[in-house]
Amino acid sequence: MDTPIPPTRAARGARSTALHAIEDRHLLAWHHQPRIVFSRGQGVRLWDVDGREYLDFASGHINQLLGHNHPELVQALAEQAAKLWSHYKYYTTDTTIEFAQRLAESLPEGLDVLNFTTTGSEANELAMRIARGATGRFDMVSIIQGLHGGTFAVESLTSIGGPRKRGLGPMLMPARANAVLAPYCYRCPINLEYPSCKLACLDVSDEMIERTTTGEVAAIFAETILGSGGMIVPPPGWLPKLKKLAEKWGALLVLDEVQVSPAKTGTLWCFEQFEVQPDILTLGKGTGGGMSIAAAVTSHPIADEAKKAGCGIPWGSTFVGEALDAAVAKRQLEILIRDGFAQRAARLGAHFMAKLNALKERYEVVGDVRGRGLYVGVEIVTDRTTKARNGALMQRIRYNAIENGLLLGGSGNALKIYPALVVNEAELDEGVAIIEKAIRLALDGHPKDVDRFSEGSHP
Ligand code: PMP
Repeated sequence: MDTPIPPTRAARGARSTALHAIEDRHLLAWHHQPRIVFSRGQGVRLWDVDGREYLDFASGHINQLLGHNHPELVQALAEQAAKLWSHYKYYTTDTTIEFAQRLAESLPEGLDVLNFTTTGSEANELAMRIARGATGRFDMVSIIQGLHGGTFAVESLTSIGGPRKRGLGPMLMPARANAVLAPYCYRCPINLEYPSCKLACLDVSDEMIERTTTGEVAAIFAETILGSGGMIVPPPGWLPKLKKLAEKWGALLVLDEVQVSPAKTGTLWCFEQFEVQPDILTLGKGTGGGMSIAAAVTSHPIADEAKKAGCGIPWGSTFVGEALDAAVAKRQLEILIRDGFAQRAARLGAHFMAKLNALKERYEVVGDVRGRGLYVGVEIVTDRTTKARNGALMQRIRYNAIENGLLLGGSGNALKIYPALVVNEAELDEGVAIIEKAIRLALDGHPKDVDRFSEGSHP
Protein backbone atom coordinates (compact mmCIF):
# COMPACT_ATOMS: atom_id res chain seq x y z
CA MET A 1 0.00 0.00 0.00
CA ASP A 2 1.56 3.29 -1.05
CA THR A 3 -0.62 5.80 0.77
CA PRO A 4 -1.36 6.16 4.47
CA ILE A 5 -4.89 5.30 5.55
CA PRO A 6 -6.70 7.67 7.91
CA PRO A 7 -7.77 6.13 11.21
CA THR A 8 -11.31 4.77 11.59
CA ARG A 9 -13.69 7.35 13.04
CA ALA A 10 -15.98 5.38 15.25
CA ALA A 11 -17.78 8.09 17.18
CA ARG A 12 -20.16 10.52 15.51
CA GLY A 13 -19.49 14.16 16.26
CA ALA A 14 -21.67 16.28 18.53
CA ARG A 15 -22.76 18.76 15.84
CA SER A 16 -23.74 15.95 13.42
CA THR A 17 -25.76 14.21 16.12
CA ALA A 18 -27.66 17.41 16.96
CA LEU A 19 -28.40 18.13 13.30
CA HIS A 20 -29.57 14.56 12.61
CA ALA A 21 -32.14 14.97 15.39
CA ILE A 22 -33.49 18.18 13.81
CA GLU A 23 -33.40 16.57 10.35
CA ASP A 24 -35.44 13.61 11.59
CA ARG A 25 -38.12 16.01 12.88
CA HIS A 26 -38.43 18.13 9.74
CA LEU A 27 -37.06 16.43 6.64
CA LEU A 28 -38.16 13.51 4.55
CA ALA A 29 -34.88 12.50 2.98
CA TRP A 30 -32.87 9.59 1.70
CA HIS A 31 -29.99 8.50 3.90
CA HIS A 32 -27.07 6.25 3.30
CA GLN A 33 -25.44 4.96 6.45
CA PRO A 34 -23.31 6.28 8.00
CA ARG A 35 -25.20 9.57 7.86
CA ILE A 36 -23.13 12.66 7.26
CA VAL A 37 -23.89 16.38 7.40
CA PHE A 38 -21.48 18.13 5.06
CA SER A 39 -20.61 21.75 5.45
CA ARG A 40 -17.70 22.52 3.13
CA GLY A 41 -16.01 21.27 -0.02
CA GLN A 42 -12.90 22.00 -2.06
CA GLY A 43 -11.75 20.06 -5.12
CA VAL A 44 -12.16 16.33 -4.39
CA ARG A 45 -12.44 16.89 -0.61
CA LEU A 46 -15.48 17.42 1.61
CA TRP A 47 -15.70 18.27 5.31
CA ASP A 48 -18.57 17.51 7.64
CA VAL A 49 -19.93 19.79 10.35
CA ASP A 50 -17.61 18.18 12.90
CA GLY A 51 -14.58 18.90 10.75
CA ARG A 52 -13.98 15.37 9.45
CA GLU A 53 -12.43 15.21 5.99
CA TYR A 54 -13.62 12.96 3.15
CA LEU A 55 -12.21 12.17 -0.26
CA ASP A 56 -15.23 12.49 -2.54
CA PHE A 57 -15.29 9.73 -5.17
CA ALA A 58 -19.00 10.30 -5.83
CA SER A 59 -18.36 13.88 -7.10
CA GLY A 60 -21.40 15.31 -5.31
CA HIS A 61 -23.84 13.00 -7.03
CA ILE A 62 -21.89 12.73 -10.29
CA ASN A 63 -22.55 16.41 -10.78
CA GLN A 64 -19.36 18.18 -9.73
CA LEU A 65 -17.12 17.35 -12.68
CA LEU A 66 -14.58 20.02 -11.72
CA GLY A 67 -14.76 19.22 -8.02
CA HIS A 68 -16.28 21.30 -5.28
CA ASN A 69 -16.09 25.10 -5.39
CA HIS A 70 -13.93 25.31 -8.51
CA PRO A 71 -12.59 28.90 -8.45
CA GLU A 72 -13.58 29.68 -12.05
CA LEU A 73 -17.12 28.40 -11.42
CA VAL A 74 -17.35 30.39 -8.20
CA GLN A 75 -16.37 33.44 -10.25
CA ALA A 76 -18.94 32.66 -12.99
CA LEU A 77 -21.63 32.26 -10.33
CA ALA A 78 -20.70 35.50 -8.57
CA GLU A 79 -20.54 37.48 -11.83
CA GLN A 80 -23.97 36.24 -12.92
CA ALA A 81 -25.42 36.68 -9.43
CA ALA A 82 -24.46 40.34 -9.56
CA LYS A 83 -26.21 40.74 -12.94
CA LEU A 84 -29.40 38.65 -13.09
CA TRP A 85 -30.57 35.46 -11.41
CA SER A 86 -33.91 34.73 -12.90
CA HIS A 87 -36.19 35.51 -15.81
CA TYR A 88 -39.93 35.05 -16.04
CA LYS A 89 -40.08 31.83 -18.01
CA TYR A 90 -41.63 33.24 -21.19
CA TYR A 91 -38.47 35.25 -21.80
CA THR A 92 -34.83 34.33 -21.73
CA THR A 93 -31.38 35.74 -21.00
CA ASP A 94 -28.19 36.27 -22.98
CA THR A 95 -26.40 33.73 -20.75
CA THR A 96 -29.07 31.07 -21.39
CA ILE A 97 -28.79 31.48 -25.17
CA GLU A 98 -24.99 31.48 -25.06
CA PHE A 99 -24.94 28.24 -23.07
CA ALA A 100 -27.38 26.62 -25.53
CA GLN A 101 -25.13 27.64 -28.41
CA ARG A 102 -21.97 26.38 -26.67
CA LEU A 103 -23.63 23.05 -25.87
CA ALA A 104 -25.01 22.56 -29.39
CA GLU A 105 -21.68 23.46 -30.97
CA SER A 106 -19.88 20.88 -28.84
CA LEU A 107 -22.20 18.12 -30.10
CA PRO A 108 -22.07 16.44 -33.52
CA GLU A 109 -24.32 17.65 -36.33
CA GLY A 110 -27.82 16.28 -35.91
CA LEU A 111 -27.90 17.23 -32.24
CA ASP A 112 -28.41 20.92 -32.85
CA VAL A 113 -31.48 22.03 -30.97
CA LEU A 114 -32.21 21.67 -27.29
CA ASN A 115 -34.90 22.29 -24.74
CA PHE A 116 -33.66 23.00 -21.22
CA THR A 117 -35.16 21.35 -18.15
CA THR A 118 -34.27 21.50 -14.47
CA THR A 119 -33.56 17.82 -13.82
CA GLY A 120 -32.57 14.66 -15.64
CA SER A 121 -36.00 13.15 -14.98
CA GLU A 122 -37.63 16.08 -16.75
CA ALA A 123 -35.18 15.77 -19.65
CA ASN A 124 -36.39 12.19 -20.15
CA GLU A 125 -40.04 13.24 -19.76
CA LEU A 126 -39.37 15.79 -22.47
CA ALA A 127 -37.72 13.16 -24.68
CA MET A 128 -40.95 11.17 -24.40
CA ARG A 129 -43.00 14.18 -25.49
CA ILE A 130 -40.66 14.81 -28.44
CA ALA A 131 -40.73 11.14 -29.47
CA ARG A 132 -44.51 10.98 -29.31
CA GLY A 133 -44.85 14.23 -31.22
CA ALA A 134 -42.31 13.32 -33.89
CA THR A 135 -43.49 9.74 -34.50
CA GLY A 136 -47.19 9.97 -33.69
CA ARG A 137 -46.76 6.75 -31.73
CA PHE A 138 -47.30 5.93 -28.10
CA ASP A 139 -45.25 2.97 -26.81
CA MET A 140 -41.92 3.47 -25.08
CA VAL A 141 -39.38 0.69 -24.76
CA SER A 142 -36.51 0.70 -22.28
CA ILE A 143 -33.70 -1.52 -21.09
CA ILE A 144 -34.01 -4.00 -18.25
CA GLN A 145 -31.82 -2.65 -15.40
CA GLY A 146 -32.12 0.87 -16.78
CA LEU A 147 -32.95 3.97 -14.72
CA HIS A 148 -34.30 7.20 -16.15
CA GLY A 149 -35.46 9.20 -13.15
CA GLY A 150 -37.98 9.53 -10.39
CA THR A 151 -41.03 11.37 -11.70
CA PHE A 152 -43.95 9.04 -12.38
CA ALA A 153 -43.64 8.67 -16.14
CA VAL A 154 -39.89 8.06 -16.16
CA GLU A 155 -40.19 5.87 -13.08
CA SER A 156 -42.26 3.63 -15.31
CA LEU A 157 -39.48 3.59 -17.90
CA THR A 158 -37.11 2.59 -15.11
CA SER A 159 -36.95 -1.16 -14.75
CA ILE A 160 -35.20 -1.09 -11.38
CA GLY A 161 -37.91 -1.91 -8.88
CA GLY A 162 -37.51 -2.79 -5.24
CA PRO A 163 -38.03 -0.17 -2.56
CA ARG A 164 -38.41 2.73 -4.95
CA LYS A 165 -41.58 1.22 -6.43
CA ARG A 166 -42.94 -0.76 -3.50
CA GLY A 167 -46.48 0.32 -2.65
CA LEU A 168 -46.80 2.69 -5.59
CA GLY A 169 -49.18 0.51 -7.53
CA PRO A 170 -49.32 0.45 -11.29
CA MET A 171 -47.16 3.02 -12.99
CA LEU A 172 -48.81 5.82 -14.92
CA MET A 173 -47.71 4.67 -18.34
CA PRO A 174 -48.99 1.20 -19.06
CA ALA A 175 -47.89 1.44 -22.70
CA ARG A 176 -44.27 0.94 -21.88
CA ALA A 177 -42.13 -2.12 -21.86
CA ASN A 178 -38.76 -2.79 -20.26
CA ALA A 179 -38.28 -5.13 -23.17
CA VAL A 180 -34.62 -4.91 -24.09
CA LEU A 181 -32.17 -7.21 -22.32
CA ALA A 182 -29.25 -5.44 -20.65
CA PRO A 183 -25.87 -5.77 -22.41
CA TYR A 184 -24.59 -7.44 -19.27
CA CYS A 185 -21.79 -9.67 -20.55
CA TYR A 186 -20.48 -10.48 -17.04
CA ARG A 187 -23.84 -12.17 -16.41
CA CYS A 188 -25.22 -12.70 -19.88
CA PRO A 189 -29.02 -12.92 -19.51
CA ILE A 190 -29.09 -15.65 -22.18
CA ASN A 191 -25.89 -17.40 -21.07
CA LEU A 192 -23.84 -16.71 -24.17
CA GLU A 193 -20.41 -15.22 -24.60
CA TYR A 194 -19.32 -12.16 -26.49
CA PRO A 195 -18.38 -12.00 -29.36
CA SER A 196 -19.47 -15.47 -30.46
CA CYS A 197 -23.00 -14.56 -29.29
CA LYS A 198 -23.25 -12.09 -32.19
CA LEU A 199 -25.30 -9.92 -29.82
CA ALA A 200 -28.18 -12.42 -29.85
CA CYS A 201 -29.58 -10.58 -26.80
CA LEU A 202 -30.89 -7.94 -29.19
CA ASP A 203 -32.58 -10.57 -31.36
CA VAL A 204 -34.36 -11.82 -28.23
CA SER A 205 -35.22 -8.20 -27.40
CA ASP A 206 -36.67 -7.73 -30.87
CA GLU A 207 -38.99 -10.66 -30.18
CA MET A 208 -39.83 -9.18 -26.75
CA ILE A 209 -40.74 -5.84 -28.33
CA GLU A 210 -42.96 -7.68 -30.79
CA ARG A 211 -44.77 -9.51 -27.97
CA THR A 212 -45.00 -6.75 -25.35
CA THR A 213 -45.84 -3.59 -27.32
CA THR A 214 -48.59 -2.56 -29.72
CA GLY A 215 -45.99 -2.51 -32.46
CA GLU A 216 -46.20 1.26 -32.53
CA VAL A 217 -43.07 2.26 -30.72
CA ALA A 218 -42.20 5.94 -30.32
CA ALA A 219 -38.79 5.47 -28.74
CA ILE A 220 -36.27 3.08 -27.28
CA PHE A 221 -34.59 4.55 -24.21
CA ALA A 222 -31.14 3.44 -23.08
CA GLU A 223 -28.40 4.75 -20.86
CA THR A 224 -25.18 4.69 -22.90
CA ILE A 225 -23.59 2.96 -19.89
CA LEU A 226 -26.16 1.59 -17.42
CA GLY A 227 -25.34 3.38 -14.16
CA SER A 228 -27.70 2.46 -11.36
CA GLY A 229 -28.20 -0.98 -12.91
CA GLY A 230 -24.57 -1.78 -12.09
CA MET A 231 -22.21 0.34 -14.25
CA ILE A 232 -22.76 -1.95 -17.24
CA VAL A 233 -20.68 -1.04 -20.28
CA PRO A 234 -22.18 -2.35 -23.53
CA PRO A 235 -19.85 -4.43 -25.70
CA PRO A 236 -18.74 -3.10 -29.09
CA GLY A 237 -21.57 -3.20 -31.61
CA TRP A 238 -24.42 -3.34 -29.08
CA LEU A 239 -25.47 0.30 -29.33
CA PRO A 240 -25.24 0.42 -33.16
CA LYS A 241 -27.38 -2.74 -33.29
CA LEU A 242 -29.83 -1.17 -30.82
CA LYS A 243 -30.11 1.83 -33.14
CA LYS A 244 -30.89 -0.51 -36.05
CA LEU A 245 -33.53 -2.19 -33.88
CA ALA A 246 -35.09 1.21 -33.16
CA GLU A 247 -35.08 2.03 -36.87
CA LYS A 248 -36.70 -1.30 -37.69
CA TRP A 249 -39.56 -0.40 -35.37
CA GLY A 250 -39.78 3.16 -36.69
CA ALA A 251 -38.78 4.38 -33.23
CA LEU A 252 -36.32 7.06 -32.13
CA LEU A 253 -33.27 6.10 -30.11
CA VAL A 254 -33.00 8.15 -26.91
CA LEU A 255 -29.64 7.93 -25.16
CA ASP A 256 -29.75 9.03 -21.54
CA GLU A 257 -26.35 10.48 -20.65
CA VAL A 258 -27.51 12.11 -17.43
CA GLN A 259 -24.81 10.24 -15.48
CA VAL A 260 -22.06 9.76 -18.02
CA SER A 261 -21.56 13.11 -19.76
CA PRO A 262 -19.82 15.42 -20.39
CA ALA A 263 -16.16 14.28 -20.32
CA LYS A 264 -16.56 11.77 -17.49
CA THR A 265 -15.99 8.61 -19.54
CA GLY A 266 -13.05 9.72 -21.68
CA THR A 267 -14.88 11.46 -24.54
CA LEU A 268 -16.83 14.68 -24.24
CA TRP A 269 -20.08 12.82 -25.00
CA CYS A 270 -20.11 9.18 -24.01
CA PHE A 271 -21.89 7.90 -27.17
CA GLU A 272 -18.94 9.14 -29.24
CA GLN A 273 -16.92 6.08 -28.21
CA PHE A 274 -19.67 3.61 -29.15
CA GLU A 275 -20.13 4.34 -32.86
CA VAL A 276 -23.69 5.49 -32.47
CA GLN A 277 -25.57 8.76 -32.46
CA PRO A 278 -28.92 9.09 -30.71
CA ASP A 279 -31.96 10.80 -32.19
CA ILE A 280 -32.48 12.42 -28.81
CA LEU A 281 -29.80 12.88 -26.16
CA THR A 282 -30.78 13.61 -22.57
CA LEU A 283 -28.41 15.40 -20.20
CA GLY A 284 -28.48 16.33 -16.53
CA LYS A 285 -26.31 16.05 -13.42
CA GLY A 286 -22.73 16.93 -14.56
CA THR A 287 -23.88 19.05 -17.50
CA GLY A 288 -24.95 21.75 -15.06
CA GLY A 289 -21.58 22.10 -13.32
CA GLY A 290 -23.37 21.44 -10.03
CA MET A 291 -26.40 23.58 -10.88
CA SER A 292 -29.89 22.38 -11.77
CA ILE A 293 -29.85 22.62 -15.50
CA ALA A 294 -30.53 19.69 -17.80
CA ALA A 295 -31.65 19.26 -21.40
CA ALA A 296 -33.07 17.11 -24.16
CA VAL A 297 -31.17 17.61 -27.41
CA THR A 298 -32.31 16.56 -30.88
CA SER A 299 -32.21 17.42 -34.59
CA HIS A 300 -34.14 20.20 -36.28
CA PRO A 301 -36.37 17.82 -38.32
CA ILE A 302 -37.37 15.86 -35.18
CA ALA A 303 -37.97 19.04 -33.17
CA ASP A 304 -40.02 20.53 -36.01
CA GLU A 305 -42.21 17.42 -36.32
CA ALA A 306 -42.75 17.37 -32.55
CA LYS A 307 -43.70 21.05 -32.52
CA LYS A 308 -46.20 20.51 -35.32
CA ALA A 309 -47.86 17.75 -33.31
CA GLY A 310 -48.20 19.86 -30.16
CA CYS A 311 -47.29 17.56 -27.28
CA GLY A 312 -46.32 20.61 -25.23
CA ILE A 313 -43.17 21.22 -27.27
CA PRO A 314 -41.32 23.53 -26.61
CA TRP A 315 -41.66 22.72 -22.93
CA GLY A 316 -41.00 25.00 -19.97
CA SER A 317 -41.34 25.35 -16.24
CA THR A 318 -40.45 27.96 -13.66
CA PHE A 319 -36.73 27.35 -13.27
CA VAL A 320 -35.91 26.13 -16.78
CA GLY A 321 -32.74 27.64 -18.27
CA GLU A 322 -32.13 30.08 -15.41
CA ALA A 323 -29.25 32.46 -16.00
CA LEU A 324 -27.49 31.55 -12.75
CA ASP A 325 -27.47 27.87 -13.70
CA ALA A 326 -26.55 28.53 -17.33
CA ALA A 327 -23.63 30.76 -16.35
CA VAL A 328 -21.98 28.03 -14.30
CA ALA A 329 -22.80 25.25 -16.77
CA LYS A 330 -21.43 27.27 -19.69
CA ARG A 331 -18.18 28.08 -17.90
CA GLN A 332 -17.77 24.45 -16.88
CA LEU A 333 -18.22 23.21 -20.45
CA GLU A 334 -15.68 25.76 -21.69
CA ILE A 335 -13.14 24.60 -19.09
CA LEU A 336 -13.77 20.90 -19.81
CA ILE A 337 -13.01 21.51 -23.50
CA ARG A 338 -10.21 24.05 -22.98
CA ASP A 339 -8.24 21.86 -20.56
CA GLY A 340 -8.86 18.49 -22.24
CA PHE A 341 -10.65 16.94 -19.27
CA ALA A 342 -12.13 14.10 -21.35
CA GLN A 343 -8.65 12.94 -22.35
CA ARG A 344 -7.49 13.35 -18.77
CA ALA A 345 -10.41 11.18 -17.60
CA ALA A 346 -9.39 8.47 -20.10
CA ARG A 347 -5.74 8.55 -18.94
CA LEU A 348 -6.49 8.64 -15.19
CA GLY A 349 -9.26 6.08 -15.61
CA ALA A 350 -6.80 3.58 -17.09
CA HIS A 351 -4.50 4.06 -14.08
CA PHE A 352 -7.41 3.76 -11.64
CA MET A 353 -8.88 0.64 -13.27
CA ALA A 354 -5.46 -1.05 -13.29
CA LYS A 355 -5.14 -0.42 -9.53
CA LEU A 356 -8.67 -1.69 -8.88
CA ASN A 357 -8.10 -4.75 -11.07
CA ALA A 358 -5.02 -5.55 -8.98
CA LEU A 359 -7.39 -5.94 -6.00
CA LYS A 360 -8.88 -8.95 -7.78
CA GLU A 361 -5.60 -10.79 -7.26
CA ARG A 362 -5.91 -10.37 -3.50
CA TYR A 363 -9.68 -10.56 -2.92
CA GLU A 364 -12.05 -13.21 -4.31
CA VAL A 365 -14.97 -10.91 -3.55
CA VAL A 366 -13.91 -8.42 -6.21
CA GLY A 367 -15.88 -9.93 -9.07
CA ASP A 368 -15.65 -7.52 -11.95
CA VAL A 369 -14.10 -4.10 -12.46
CA ARG A 370 -15.58 -2.18 -15.38
CA GLY A 371 -16.19 1.29 -16.66
CA ARG A 372 -14.87 4.01 -18.89
CA GLY A 373 -12.70 6.93 -17.86
CA LEU A 374 -13.47 8.06 -14.33
CA TYR A 375 -16.80 6.23 -14.25
CA VAL A 376 -16.12 2.85 -12.70
CA GLY A 377 -18.06 0.01 -11.12
CA VAL A 378 -16.76 -2.79 -8.93
CA GLU A 379 -19.09 -5.75 -8.64
CA ILE A 380 -18.84 -7.48 -5.25
CA VAL A 381 -19.48 -11.22 -5.23
CA THR A 382 -19.21 -14.05 -2.73
CA ASP A 383 -16.48 -15.58 -4.88
CA ARG A 384 -15.43 -15.32 -8.49
CA THR A 385 -16.34 -18.91 -9.33
CA THR A 386 -20.02 -18.76 -8.39
CA LYS A 387 -20.23 -14.99 -9.04
CA ALA A 388 -23.04 -14.90 -6.45
CA ARG A 389 -24.04 -11.26 -5.95
CA ASN A 390 -23.10 -10.01 -2.48
CA GLY A 391 -24.99 -6.76 -1.97
CA ALA A 392 -24.66 -6.93 1.82
CA LEU A 393 -20.87 -7.13 1.58
CA MET A 394 -20.83 -4.27 -0.94
CA GLN A 395 -22.77 -2.14 1.55
CA ARG A 396 -20.30 -3.01 4.32
CA ILE A 397 -17.40 -2.05 2.07
CA ARG A 398 -19.09 1.25 1.17
CA TYR A 399 -19.81 1.94 4.85
CA ASN A 400 -16.24 1.15 5.91
CA ALA A 401 -14.85 3.33 3.12
CA ILE A 402 -16.88 6.28 4.40
CA GLU A 403 -15.83 5.60 7.98
CA ASN A 404 -12.28 5.77 6.69
CA GLY A 405 -12.78 9.00 4.81
CA LEU A 406 -13.78 7.95 1.29
CA LEU A 407 -17.21 8.69 -0.17
CA LEU A 408 -18.44 6.11 -2.70
CA GLY A 409 -21.73 5.30 -4.40
CA GLY A 410 -23.27 1.86 -4.45
CA SER A 411 -26.31 0.04 -5.73
CA GLY A 412 -27.24 -3.62 -5.87
CA ASN A 413 -23.91 -5.35 -5.38
CA ALA A 414 -21.83 -2.78 -7.30
CA LEU A 415 -19.67 -0.07 -5.83
CA LYS A 416 -20.02 3.01 -8.02
CA ILE A 417 -16.96 5.20 -8.21
CA TYR A 418 -16.81 8.49 -10.09
CA PRO A 419 -14.39 11.04 -8.70
CA ALA A 420 -14.37 14.58 -10.10
CA LEU A 421 -12.16 14.99 -13.15
CA VAL A 422 -9.71 17.23 -11.25
CA VAL A 423 -8.59 14.24 -9.18
CA ASN A 424 -4.90 13.33 -9.50
CA GLU A 425 -3.06 9.98 -9.46
CA ALA A 426 -1.99 10.29 -5.83
CA GLU A 427 -5.60 10.89 -4.76
CA LEU A 428 -6.77 7.91 -6.84
CA ASP A 429 -4.13 5.74 -5.13
CA GLU A 430 -5.23 7.08 -1.75
CA GLY A 431 -8.80 6.06 -2.63
CA VAL A 432 -7.79 2.56 -3.74
CA ALA A 433 -5.87 2.08 -0.47
CA ILE A 434 -8.99 3.02 1.51
CA ILE A 435 -11.13 0.69 -0.63
CA GLU A 436 -8.70 -2.13 0.15
CA LYS A 437 -8.87 -1.36 3.85
CA ALA A 438 -12.69 -1.25 3.61
CA ILE A 439 -12.74 -4.68 1.93
CA ARG A 440 -10.52 -6.16 4.67
CA LEU A 441 -12.72 -4.68 7.39
CA ALA A 442 -15.89 -5.95 5.67
CA LEU A 443 -14.43 -9.44 5.39
CA ASP A 444 -13.77 -9.23 9.16
CA GLY A 445 -17.49 -8.47 9.67
CA HIS A 446 -17.31 -4.69 10.16
CA PRO A 447 -19.37 -2.70 10.89
CA LYS A 448 -20.53 -5.00 13.67
CA ASP A 449 -23.47 -3.04 15.03
CA VAL A 450 -25.06 -1.99 11.73
CA ASP A 451 -27.55 -4.03 9.74
CA ARG A 452 -29.35 -1.32 7.74
CA PHE A 453 -27.26 0.60 5.26
CA SER A 454 -29.79 2.95 3.75
CA GLU A 455 -33.16 4.48 4.39
CA GLY A 456 -35.56 5.71 1.74
CA SER A 457 -36.31 4.47 -1.72
CA HIS A 458 -32.89 3.21 -2.73
CA PRO A 459 -32.80 0.25 -5.01
N1 PMP B 1 -31.18 9.33 -15.85
C1 PMP B 1 -30.21 8.69 -15.20
C2 PMP B 1 -29.34 7.72 -15.94
C3 PMP B 1 -30.00 8.92 -13.83
O1 PMP B 1 -29.03 8.27 -13.18
C4 PMP B 1 -30.82 9.85 -13.16
C5 PMP B 1 -30.67 10.15 -11.67
N2 PMP B 1 -30.02 9.26 -10.91
C6 PMP B 1 -31.83 10.49 -13.88
C7 PMP B 1 -31.99 10.21 -15.21
C8 PMP B 1 -32.73 11.48 -13.21
O2 PMP B 1 -32.06 12.66 -12.97
P1 PMP B 1 -32.58 13.66 -11.81
O3 PMP B 1 -32.26 13.02 -10.51
O4 PMP B 1 -31.80 14.92 -12.07
O5 PMP B 1 -34.02 13.84 -12.03
